[in-house]
Amino acid sequence: MSKRYESEPERRKVLRASTKKCTRCGEFKSGADFTIYRSSDGYLYLISRCKPCMVIVGAEYKKINTSYAEAHAEGQKGNKRAWAAKHIHTTLETATNNNKEWTGPEMEIILREDLTVAEMAKMLGRTYYSVTGMRRQCRRDPRKQVLAGVERGEL
Ligand SMILES: [Zn+2]
Repeated sequence: MSKRYESEPERRKVLRASTKKCTRCGEFKSGADFTIYRSSDGYLYLISRCKPCMVIVGAEYKKINTSYAEAHAEGQKGNKRAWAAKHIHTTLETATNNNKEWTGPEMEIILREDLTVAEMAKMLGRTYYSVTGMRRQCRRDPRKQVLAGVERGEL
């Protein structure tokens, strides 16, 4: 097959000059209306769908992907709840300080962004939910953050 050994520029010229039926819209179009791709054998071919069809396919794909991402994010939320439910048990065992009053250094720890709630709970000997609860309170009540040394000078 001599065709196999055409030079690449020659091959591109042949492809562009050819006529091809798009597998999506079914129209016969010039090879210039199709994107050229290199197959795994290293040879150049025209893709099966014309350029305008690929734009539509791309938009549809993006739409599917977006709804997938949204559905996935929704699923993540569920996972987060399940994850918290799992951790409340592990932190219950280590929660020896649970009824003690919160101290400034403790507050400093729970306001950190580099630790997970479970890690904080284990470090402090408090339960998962006492940590999430106090974090929520800190966000609502700036005075608690002052206790933690955050926003010093606002007193
Ligand atoms: Zn088409």
